[in-house]
Amino acid sequence: MDKIKIDNLEIFANHGVFPEETRLGQKFLVSCVLYLDIRAAGVTDSLEKSVDYGTICHLIKEEMEANTLKLIEAVAEHIAEKILNYDVKIRRIDLEIKKPWAPVGLPLDMVSVEISRSWHEVYVAFGSNMGDKRRYIETALEEINKTKGCRIEKISEIITTEPYGGVEQDEFLNGAIKLWTLLTPYELLGRLHELEQKAGRERKIHWGPRTLDLDILLYDDAVIEDDELCVPHVDMHNRRFVLEPMMEIAPYKRHPVSGKTMTELYNELR
Ligand code: ATP
Ligand code: CA
Ligand code: CA
Repeated sequence: MDKIKIDNLEIFANHGVFPEETRLGQKFLVSCVLYLDIRAAGVTDSLEKSVDYGTICHLIKEEMEANTLKLIEAVAEHIAEKILNYDVKIRRIDLEIKKPWAPVGLPLDMVSVEISRSWHEVYVAFGSNMGDKRRYIETALEEINKTKGCRIEKISEIITTEPYGGVEQDEFLNGAIKLWTLLTPYELLGRLHELEQKAGRERKIHWGPRTLDLDILLYDDAVIEDDELCVPHVDMHNRRFVLEPMMEIAPYKRHPVSGKTMTELYNELR
């Protein structure tokens, strides 16, 4: 990806752990690298196809001056989030905040933190087979889209499917979404659990009836396996009610472990 870089933007602000720091303020130097595709801007010489670095500098200044935080770690998170939300063209940011006057009582050039944040491409499966199923699903999707750092890009058709796993129960409504998120896999899982709770989900029988089920299918090409989270979802390749919606919204997307596309996985299942 192409980059736009800003080096050592100087801002006076009041962040710090010590009372003198928040009272008197001090100098900070902010540097960032924005990752985006600037080919079209270059070919057409038009600013609207790129991102105005002047505006970005002012956004950083506003955010630095808007509040008083203890940690530059926190300041960095705020700025990164603000910039990634500013324009969808910005896919990733590397951000460094330097504190040349850090009061440590010893001579030094700089103290700094550097973070890298980006939008992650995620697929989430949804299902419901209790109560007003469609309403549970629609509410959940609205809530996901309203969540800070979450943006739904595609929603599949909602399909009606027979229950899976051998428990006698009502038929399901199922589907999948493509989501862009700034959340980590665990933060996203936490948020999805909250939404299941809000929908009154009770976990009584495994694979039993539920008002709402939200499963993370894919998170970039990450492979995660621990007690809390398995990504890609361990059973997705065996489930028609997952692969059919996935084939609709991401037919060429490859499963990061098997390397097969959603279409290939679906066809194998049939
Ligand atoms: P299945 O996972 O086979 O579809 P289920 O959705 O009915 O079954 P739940 O009771 O909803 O299972 O979830 C049980 C636990 O699975 C959750 O508490 C969560 O920590 C864990 N889990 C592991 N991987 C994932 C994932 N990719 N998405 C959602 N939850 C996951
Ligand atoms: Ca599930
Ligand atoms: Ca689940």
